[in-house]
Amino acid sequence: MTYTLPALPYAYDALAPHLSPETMELHHDKHHAAYVKAANETVERLASAETWQIAGLERALAFNVSGHGLHTLFWDSMSPEMEQRPSGALAEAIDKAFGSVDKYHERFKGALTTIQGSGWALLVFEPIAAELQIVQVQNHDGAMLLGSTPILAADGWEHAYYVDYRNDKAAWAENFTQMTDWAGASSRFDTVVSSAAA
Ligand code: MN
Repeated sequence: MTYTLPALPYAYDALAPHLSPETMELHHDKHHAAYVKAANETVERLASAETWQIAGLERALAFNVSGHGLHTLFWDSMSPEMEQRPSGALAEAIDKAFGSVDKYHERFKGALTTIQGSGWALLVFEPIAAELQIVQVQNHDGAMLLGSTPILAADGWEHAYYVDYRNDKAAWAENFTQMTDWAGASSRFDTVVSSAAA
């Protein structure tokens, strides 16, 4: 198998009451698992595809592999240790790109809340400007900035929040902000910046 479902980095109930164990179990064991299964099946089907099948399978591969990657980052974007603040080089880059951490949070919550249909809000390092950007991704792979590396990912699909927040997407965005794992984000940021400079 090319792709494997990672274990959650914490227990199903670790993020309650912000996210219920029911949401976490469904989201990880059903939704994320389905993207991993479909990604592996698509890789296999591509190996023996007829020419006319390739375009459709490539679209399916982009959708499912991106879905797998985003969900893996999503679990690592949240922490049971609430109310963290960014520090170090990441905090400086956030100030440079957005003005302040609070302004960043407002922009990020806005991106997550205003997704039309299904998608994600991402904090990415964009290597051409060598700056942080907030990106609103359609489904899993639409409108992504080519070459950029996601640092944080917030799922804006209804399955991510509807059990716990119903139609109140703004409340989901606010709660995601409180759970943001800034320690993990800092280490991802340091890694991508050092490899971009190399
Ligand atoms: Mn999801």
